[in-house]
Amino acid sequence: MKYEVIIGLEVHSELKTNTKIFCGCATTFGSPQNTNVCPVCLGLPGVLPVLNEKVVEFGIKAGLALNCRISKFSKFDRKNYYYPDLPKNFQTSQLDLPIAEHGHLFIEVNGETKRIGITRAHMEEDAGKLVHSGSTITSSDYSNVDYNRTGVPLLEIVSEPDMRSPEEAVAYLEKMKSILEYVEVSDCKMEEGSLRCDVNVSLREWGAEKFGTKVEMKNLNSFKTVQRALEYEIERQADILDEGGKIIQETRTWDEAKGITLSMRSKEQAHDYRYFPEPDLVPIVTTEERIEEIRASLPELPDARRKRLTEECGLSAYDAGVITATRAMADYFDAVCKAGADAKLAANWLMGDVSKHLNYEGKTLADMLIKADQLADLIKLIGKGTISSKIAKTVFEEMWKTGDDPAKIVEEKGLVQITDTKEIEAIVERVIADNPKPVEDYKNGNKKSIGFLVGQVMRQSKGKANPGMVNELLAKMLS
Ligand SMILES: [Zn+2]
Repeated sequence: MKYEVIIGLEVHSELKTNTKIFCGCATTFGSPQNTNVCPVCLGLPGVLPVLNEKVVEFGIKAGLALNCRISKFSKFDRKNYYYPDLPKNFQTSQLDLPIAEHGHLFIEVNGETKRIGITRAHMEEDAGKLVHSGSTITSSDYSNVDYNRTGVPLLEIVSEPDMRSPEEAVAYLEKMKSILEYVEVSDCKMEEGSLRCDVNVSLREWGAEKFGTKVEMKNLNSFKTVQRALEYEIERQADILDEGGKIIQETRTWDEAKGITLSMRSKEQAHDYRYFPEPDLVPIVTTEERIEEIRASLPELPDARRKRLTEECGLSAYDAGVITATRAMADYFDAVCKAGADAKLAANWLMGDVSKHLNYEGKTLADMLIKADQLADLIKLIGKGTISSKIAKTVFEEMWKTGDDPAKIVEEKGLVQITDTKEIEAIVERVIADNPKPVEDYKNGNKKSIGFLVGQVMRQSKGKANPGMVNELLAKMLS
């Protein structure tokens, strides 16, 4: 690659307050159109906004989790533009005095840790939604507007242009999502639009100091889309530069079906919006005590948690990364360990059978019938030798379906591992008698044929014979 890629991200995260930012309307997703509305969020004449205190708390909380400096004096501004989904003809946002600034987070790509700067995080209101009669705006006869989303609180988090590849951009977005989920300020459901991002990308020759002209891609709503849109855009810009052309500063949209970006409009500048201070809202003054109070409420964040899992629980960096990616998984893991299960085995079960079943059925840990102490019990049954790890998979299947305790399932289904030497000996004798050929092979030096005989014993015992004992007894009786 002839060029260095420069990427910056603007993440819009819907804050999960019960009510909107400036009125008492519900923020519930999926309500019938235009039912969560009132004169304030519809921008009717004469109404006055009242700031939702929870939004400020969440803004500060997210800011602290992202290592930002929290502003003790912050204010709202009007960003003026016309669009049918914006009934007031301006968006109440923050321009020069955002709630949080100068933060950072760490990403890991190809085993390397990198610090990505966060310029600022500011509070604002979401716009409504246009519902087109056709599949796209151009193919529609008409469009309706749904104002349910108008006034839902947003936190816009702007990064420094510190990312150098699509992989780094995705890692940043993943870490951002993880942190916002950990501090419980947003549910970050990308499929419902509660976490969306705009991506800026430009290219410059290696060693050049000046940034190239940047192009913005708006409203990318999945990790895959960010990756694909960036890959396409980098190639498009490189081709233009290779041919001696110039990149135009513009906003482009990603066409998922065609897998290309299309020009939307030339990029507007801040002055195009005629920002001015919002006269209907007083500035937000936050005390040091309040900030410290919110800081004290922060949970253990993903990086700290990952460190603890590697250092105290002996997990590999990779495993710890997977377990701590979501708070739900990390909390579940901690609960399984607390209930007495071995940490490494707990991690294996979570990343293996549990994740496999969750993904397959499209469920989350919260939907799962198996409670943490039950999974711990299952792991302990293997440790004690009551069941083999193979039988444990059968028990797990049953637990998944019924939510029953593993001990009960083992008891009811008669799955207790056979560790009685006499009982195993009897099966081994039978298998030796029934399989003269492999026995002969083994005695003639083909040591591999013992594998077949072990398999037969396991089969006849319905998987319940202790495999170590089977191997031992077979070797002894064949010698
Ligand atoms: Zn309202």
